[in-house]
Amino acid sequence: MIRVTPCGAAGEVTGSGLYVETRSTRLLVDFGIFQGGEQPARRSRELGPVDPATLQTVVLTHAHVDHSGRVPLLYAHGYDGGVVATPATFALTPILLEDVARLDAERSADPIYRPEDVRRMHQSRHLRPLSWRRTLPLPGGVQVTLHDAGHIMGASSAVLDVESDSRVLKMVFSGDLGPPGVPLLRDPDPPRGADVVFLESTYGGRSRAPLRDTVESFKRIVEGAAQAGETVLVPAFAVGRTQQILFYLAEAVREGRLPRDFPIVLDSPMATEATEALLEHPEVLDAEAKRLFGSGQLARDLAGLVITRTAAESKALNDAREPCIILSASGMCEGGRVVHHLRRRLGRGDVHVVIVGYMAEGTLGRKLVEGAGEVEIEGQLIPVRARVHELDGLSAHADHDELLAWLEAVIDPSGNLPSVVLNHGENAAREALAAAIRHRWSIEPLLPMQGESLEF
Ligand SMILES: [Zn+2]
Repeated sequence: MIRVTPCGAAGEVTGSGLYVETRSTRLLVDFGIFQGGEQPARRSRELGPVDPATLQTVVLTHAHVDHSGRVPLLYAHGYDGGVVATPATFALTPILLEDVARLDAERSADPIYRPEDVRRMHQSRHLRPLSWRRTLPLPGGVQVTLHDAGHIMGASSAVLDVESDSRVLKMVFSGDLGPPGVPLLRDPDPPRGADVVFLESTYGGRSRAPLRDTVESFKRIVEGAAQAGETVLVPAFAVGRTQQILFYLAEAVREGRLPRDFPIVLDSPMATEATEALLEHPEVLDAEAKRLFGSGQLARDLAGLVITRTAAESKALNDAREPCIILSASGMCEGGRVVHHLRRRLGRGDVHVVIVGYMAEGTLGRKLVEGAGEVEIEGQLIPVRARVHELDGLSAHADHDELLAWLEAVIDPSGNLPSVVLNHGENAAREALAAAIRHRWSIEPLLPMQGESLEF
């Protein structure tokens, strides 16, 4: 018997975590915090069914905090085992998780965990770096192999070969899947063959505009703004999206559509650190990115780049430098420096806000996308006069057809059809994806809720 229990991201997109139990071992695939929705802070301190004393291993698909954010909580509660992830993921997790600890300490007298817990997680005896397509034996008759998921640097799909009752079950966990063809990163590398597939469903039922069209729309916005002397504010995830946007801005400069000296302000310490981490892990880059970095071309195109490190530099931006392009986190506009940029600029008609990622229910970003006429920021009602553009074609997530194409590659045409479990998607999204899977393969996907155990 193998039992798997979702600890979050079941009918929603945050709080990822799948708790896997057999007679001989217990492990987690991801353990992330909740963002947006109801009581994310309270839910992010819950361990659910997980007992840190008997847990053997954590397999981490990628560094985004909705997948990794509760791992230090395990160490705070006495877990002393290892974490398996790619070296590039381990380059990002200290940056992202210390930020979670810091933000929480600012907001709450009783933070969910402290920076020491993040450091304990990153002690070398706990880290099990694993490159893509290498296999690592884990305690209790389990082997893990990671495959490139093409989502953010280091992001993986995990394959667990789980021994139980004298059989071996091949369980594939998609993690978050990227679309093929994005710049910088290599395309997803789906594992072949599976008995059980846990598939994310963020964009189930939705197809995005072709990437080329979205990039063109983005360049047109920045080109027009630069000509009109207007400012562009891009709330973006520090990891992944920010680097992708910088890449397109460099292209716009190269194409003569953006003056080479037009200020591009990177106002996110985390995005700056993540960009540096990317440069230290060339194994995650695709061939074109390697060439552009290697030749120094990218650095020349981004001559207008200004990096603000301190909060004082960030505040000074409110008065100086405009017009400019500001890239700032957090992506969903729920925290970080982007909040003060929005508070200062949403009421202005000469500002463009470009939303470039997925906005979870209940977030400020979602309200902007839905066309709110005014929003509340830090207790203040702000009228929205800035022009809000939504470019969902830049998502780091595969869309409906791309999810199906990934699943098709995983299914072994000469073997049995796998069981498919859909997670990491709001209910309407995973139901739409379930309908397509039912239609195409006659598989009835499972859509468990949080805490609802599945047995295989
Ligand atoms: Zn992610």
